[in-house]
Amino acid sequence: MKLNELYQTIILEHYKEPHNVGELLNADIESRGYNESCGDDVRLFVKLDDEKKIDEIRFKGKGCAISQSSTSMMTDAIKGKTIDEALLFVDSFKSMLKGEKQFSDEGDYEELSSLKGVLEFPVRVKCATLSWNTVRNGLLQFKSKENETTKVATTIHDEE
Ligand code: ZN
Repeated sequence: MKLNELYQTIILEHYKEPHNVGELLNADIESRGYNESCGDDVRLFVKLDDEKKIDEIRFKGKGCAISQSSTSMMTDAIKGKTIDEALLFVDSFKSMLKGEKQFSDEGDYEELSSLKGVLEFPVRVKCATLSWNTVRNGLLQFKSKENETTKVATTIHDEE
């Protein structure tokens, strides 16, 4: 596979016109992640509803096409899920990106399967997993403080 095949149509569409871009001033969770090896930077804002489902999710980010499009697709995929459903989905997709589990292209994975090409470029896996690690960190932090009313704000650096 050539590098330009990695940048398939779906990835480029999400890079040029990312979904769920912006900030949420009333977010319950704010998390930020850096991938220092590529310079990718993503800030996520999550608003939960009364049933602790992800009501709104937005992001602001800069970085390569892989990181930006992966973030855009991640926000589409986990919106509407409960925290636990989202965490399961994140772990499942991360296993695919790391080659530990076969890629699916069914249901919520349909567009995400376009990221399959990163498997052949290990250095880009961190670009693809950045927003997944970032949202995972925020959701876990929120879960651990669920009885508090304070907003959760976390930052991660260069996580695998
Ligand atoms: Zn990158």
